[in-house]
Amino acid sequence: MRVLVRILVISFYAYLPSVAAKWHQHSFQVMGTQAHVEFWLPDSGAIHSAEDEKKLTQADRISRAVENEMRRIDREMSPYKPESELSKVNRLAAKGPVKISSELFALVTKAEKISQQSHGAFDLTYASVGYRYDYRLRQKPDQQTIKQSLAAIDYTGIVLDKNERSIFFKHPKIKIDLGGIAKGYAVKNCLNILRKFDIEHGLVSAGGDTGLLGDRKGRPWFVGIKHPRANDKTAVHLPLSDEAISTSGDYERYFIENDVRYHHIINPKTGKSAQQVVSVSVIGKDPTLVDALSTTLFVLGLHDGMAYIDSLAGYEAIIIDSQQKLHFSLGLQQNN
Ligand code: ADP
Ligand code: MG
Repeated sequence: MRVLVRILVISFYAYLPSVAAKWHQHSFQVMGTQAHVEFWLPDSGAIHSAEDEKKLTQADRISRAVENEMRRIDREMSPYKPESELSKVNRLAAKGPVKISSELFALVTKAEKISQQSHGAFDLTYASVGYRYDYRLRQKPDQQTIKQSLAAIDYTGIVLDKNERSIFFKHPKIKIDLGGIAKGYAVKNCLNILRKFDIEHGLVSAGGDTGLLGDRKGRPWFVGIKHPRANDKTAVHLPLSDEAISTSGDYERYFIENDVRYHHIINPKTGKSAQQVVSVSVIGKDPTLVDALSTTLFVLGLHDGMAYIDSLAGYEAIIIDSQQKLHFSLGLQQNN
């Protein structure tokens, strides 16, 4: 009898954490990176009831909806998938105006606006040279190719017709890429999915882009910024609630040749990897904008990048320079 009681107790406790768990998590690979969703589902009060079983199903449903949304955006906007809408634009838009979905039209319009505002530090046409880099295969364009491609890095060569919802490239070699903004956009859409399911405390991340819904129930979320030169270390932990944060680093996709680090953030003026800083994090309300801004500041470097972010209300930055020193924008200094 005593043995039976002990077994019952053990199995009860073994079962307890999964049924009574209120925080739900799901991780998956998408867009060439790791994505993660975490959220709180209020509980029915009972330890084990049909209601709790329903909640678990609900948690699965929410996790799946988030994963599906990320996969959908990847399918439509990946430059690596020949059947994506973006690839179609890159094949056809120099020949004549191409009618596109309102979703792609809106995101390209936003990327173009950020290109304008940053005077081309962010430039969605960087892809004219960007696609010639392959970091896994350690391939980079030679000087001659870069020189020829630079003429096609020009966001003003994109013609967007709002009425027709079409896009046209004035230069035959223009290509566009939304890699500097699409993950933030995906995070934004996924936060909206959580809201639709009445979630009040949640986190969605895709690589270095994180969006937060509310706090972590009475305490802030802690988001770590990776140490740029030690993969398993965190440079700084930030307590945040109801904000988005995006980190751009030169350590995600890169190779080193003759002491030069070739990585995936390209200075559109030179066609080469931006070298001034090693990590930029931008914090603010709009997940799409913080994504584009972290890439922008990375290209602008410490001085111009900080001046730019300090001119934008509601957006702050943490920059790690090549000596691995941390720099904070004005708003963060005042809070310290
Ligand atoms: P990650 O993709 O690792 O999250 P970022 O948010 O910094 O990093 O975005 C880097 C991506 O942005 C590159 O992989 C590329 O697709 C795109 N990109 C690179 N340079 C530029 C640029 N100057 N302007 C706009 N997009 C860029
Ligand atoms: Mg970015």
